[in-house]
Amino acid sequence: MPYGQHRSSAKPRGARPGHRSFGGSHQRRGSGNGVRRGAYIHPSKFINKAVSQAEEVVYESKHAFKDFAFSPDVQHNIIEKGYKIPSAIQDQAIPLILEGKDVIGLANTGTGKTAAFILPIIEKIHAKNKLSGQMFYSVLIMAPTRELAVQIDEQFREFSRGMRLYSALCVGGMNIDRQIRDLRRRPHVIIGTPGRLKDLMKRSELKLDSVSYLVLDEADRMLDMGFINDIREIVDQTPRDRQTLFFSATITPTIQALVNTFLNNPVEVSVRTADTSEHVEQDIVEARDKDHKLETLVTMLAGEDFDKVLVFGETKFGVQRLSDHLEHNGFSSVAIHGNKSQSQRQRALKSFKDNKVNIMVATDVAARGLDIPNVSHVINFDQPATYEDYVHRIGRTGRGGASGKAFTFVPTQTQNRR
Ligand code: AMP
Repeated sequence: MPYGQHRSSAKPRGARPGHRSFGGSHQRRGSGNGVRRGAYIHPSKFINKAVSQAEEVVYESKHAFKDFAFSPDVQHNIIEKGYKIPSAIQDQAIPLILEGKDVIGLANTGTGKTAAFILPIIEKIHAKNKLSGQMFYSVLIMAPTRELAVQIDEQFREFSRGMRLYSALCVGGMNIDRQIRDLRRRPHVIIGTPGRLKDLMKRSELKLDSVSYLVLDEADRMLDMGFINDIREIVDQTPRDRQTLFFSATITPTIQALVNTFLNNPVEVSVRTADTSEHVEQDIVEARDKDHKLETLVTMLAGEDFDKVLVFGETKFGVQRLSDHLEHNGFSSVAIHGNKSQSQRQRALKSFKDNKVNIMVATDVAARGLDIPNVSHVINFDQPATYEDYVHRIGRTGRGGASGKAFTFVPTQTQNRR
């Protein structure tokens, strides 16, 4: 349902359903309405009537979880976790990974890709660990952000419960001495972000010569974040005869080059259907200036169906200020951005995930890769720098078939046409 017909008590001026008649030329916006470093994005790109669930082609899984060659321990933990039917990426990738193939998984976040690689890996190391007990340091999983690494670690722990398999989480922003201690305890699985992993290698605390399984998760994001050299250095230290699993939402020429050097005779599995953004109802909200934006945001948030709202801002300071402003106006809000310590971010994220606060204000980088269920609305208080960032942002809502809504603040039409 477009914004104009929304149940919300907030009805921002000018946000008309399906309105697409903004100034036709792709002029650059003046800096008076929030300075943007990225390219101008035409407001019509922020409007979309969501594809209704009924119009979507539902993926029919060829396997049930019990069809996969998993041991009873793994099967038990899948049931405990409550997964009933494999998602598309799980259905297609799990048998290949169990067979020992290198796999390129083209999948966005929210498709269940974590379980698609973690379950077969657990199966393999569990089986061998039971036989020989020699599977220490045998899995390395690299992810672009600390939060994503934490989420992978959480899934690893849940799915390996009762198997005496251990992991070490090696991410920046957290105490390195503790990670060194964890590494010395001979974990089976190492999960980390490239910068910290490299740091640990330099200190000779991390040796990768026994890695049998290497996972690169969200490889495209890792490249976006400038990790390419770190990744190459790390992967170079792992044995050539490892099994490599490579996940990315896109394949650019640089990514293809990495695939060619890192993977051996890979099989590609693609579950990318339409843009995730198609499932999200999107509309714009016009505002004259910063004060008007704040005022409008406060009115919108008072709307009754704004249950769990992720608000994006451009700068660390702006995000903190906005969150404080919302608190002063009686909303419960947390902020996550790069000026917060890792434990502060984790606390903020947890309170938002657990519905203790219902608004989280974030920068793009802080929110990357986060798995937060049931976000009802994404609000772009500041516009994203690129359309790709926009798609990542709004991908936080409308996940797993749930309906989601996204609103983007744009300057009022007259300003826009100037
Ligand atoms: P991911 O794409 O790995 O970040 O997963 C997105 C969300 O989907 C997570 O909350 C998972 O726990 C959930 N999920 C993954 N696979 C399944 C499944 N087969 N059934 C139900 N939920 C799932």
